[in-house]
Amino acid sequence: MTGLATALPKQAWLWIFRKTFLMMGLSVVISVIATVVFMATFSAGVNMPGLLISIVMPICLGGPMIFTFAIGTERMRYANQQLAHLATLDGLTGLFNRRAFASAVEKYCVGPHRRGVLLVIDADHFKSVNDRFGHDQGDEALRDIAHALSLTIPLPGLVGRLGGEEFGIYLPDMDLARAESVADDVRRAIADIDFRPEGISCPLSVSIGGASHEKPIAFRALYREADERLYSAKQRGRDCVALPQAA
Ligand code: GH3
Ligand code: MG
Ligand code: MG
Repeated sequence: MTGLATALPKQAWLWIFRKTFLMMGLSVVISVIATVVFMATFSAGVNMPGLLISIVMPICLGGPMIFTFAIGTERMRYANQQLAHLATLDGLTGLFNRRAFASAVEKYCVGPHRRGVLLVIDADHFKSVNDRFGHDQGDEALRDIAHALSLTIPLPGLVGRLGGEEFGIYLPDMDLARAESVADDVRRAIADIDFRPEGISCPLSVSIGGASHEKPIAFRALYREADERLYSAKQRGRDCVALPQAA
């Protein structure tokens, strides 16, 4: 999941060839001009063999060097692009990590929509999954939960892993009534996961707290409110949703 692809895409190869031909063309033009000036100034005048050499030499010598250099720089650019993308992802689940999720939500919060709902989703009694089946199976459960969340949220919703066994969903431009039904779909989707470590059934559930906004707001403030409701969902017995009352 975190490995870098080393093969360059087709688009990169097109760019390499274009760059090579452009640089080679430029080298030939400069070489021809310099040769003509040199021959006219210091020898008996412009001659054909001299001109041919001024064309062939930059192609034969410079061409392969420019091509190799272009491949190198394109590989570097492609690797940097992949690293920048990987830095936004959570290594275990492939979802946005907390920083990328918060920054994506904040873009919505100050953007044209400026209203939306944040859901904070926490796996219930997750410590006991690890205690019973081990950390690797716990990781597997987290991947299953992440997969179910991705499948359940309506576009253009965002989903990320906020840390540990806690996930976030942001539903841009959505009212509370609709968000409540999405949150309940999410809760049921997790309860429906058939998680069977070592062949033993291990039901999963989540508690969900939410907060909505109708004007620009910082992610931190929205998160704090949703987290308080998550706490009250846990207090109510878990496997439930706590959202603000719709107006
Ligand atoms: P609650 O219902 O109150 O949320 O109970 P809980 O057990 O889920 O909460 P608690 O905070 O006591 O424990 C969280 C557990 O989540 C403990 C920790 O080992 C586990 N956990 C956090 N991150 C990971 C992870 O990346 N992989 C695995 N396997 N477990 C994790
Ligand atoms: Mg938990
Ligand atoms: Mg937690």
